[in-house]
Amino acid sequence: MNPASRRQPRILGILAGMSWESSSHLYQLLNRSVAARLGGLHSARLLMHSVDFAEVEALQRSGDWEAAGLLLGEAAAGLKAAGAGALMIAANTMHKVADQVESLGGLPLIHIVDATAEALKAAGVRRAGLLATRYTMEGEFYRGRMRDRHGIEILIPGEQQRTEVHRVIYEELCRGQVLERSRQFYRGAIAELAGAGAEAVILGCTELCLLLDVQRDADLLPLFDGTALHAQAAVDWLLLAYDDSQGR
Ligand code: GLU
Repeated sequence: MNPASRRQPRILGILAGMSWESSSHLYQLLNRSVAARLGGLHSARLLMHSVDFAEVEALQRSGDWEAAGLLLGEAAAGLKAAGAGALMIAANTMHKVADQVESLGGLPLIHIVDATAEALKAAGVRRAGLLATRYTMEGEFYRGRMRDRHGIEILIPGEQQRTEVHRVIYEELCRGQVLERSRQFYRGAIAELAGAGAEAVILGCTELCLLLDVQRDADLLPLFDGTALHAQAAVDWLLLAYDDSQGR
């Protein structure tokens, strides 16, 4: 390949820290995946802006999504200035402000709903249960995109279950606590979603793969881990450029 036509390798930008417990897992997933695909000492070229989650969570709770979007959008612009060529928001909930972040940051977004939907469609799933924060389960930004762009119907647990699903995420998993009684509770929620007609369940919160195992806990319904699928889509984006730059 003519060296003049070589492109700069791509750098992935990540908005992280929501929570850092799941971002630390994502960091491992990205690097392990690049190493598995390229071998040797290869690892993921990335820039990470890790926020103070207390600040983001307070804005979520007060309903100030505009300010939350501004906070993330400014961080995204910083990642772009530092050389990132695409962006991932390392949380499902904050995709509520994805449009704002994308336009303020000026970077194309690798969207977690699209990455998850592609895997569901490949498996022939048309109706999926969703376990996530209350914002993600009840808002339109996740369910609407699944329905309108991908033709996938989303089922959510009942009100009481949603309250506990949400509590476990913020009070336990985001603080590094992984409790067996909560795993059992989640398994109960999966059983109910199966009873309601779900063909699979989405782990639609980036901390849930710390609690449920897509293999061990798939005896009730197949589980789709949004974090792993999002990571895979990001690595696909990264390595496409890598192949170009190596002239392969
Ligand atoms: N990481 C979570 C998610 O994927 C929840 C924490 C947050 O609100 O960002 O939605």
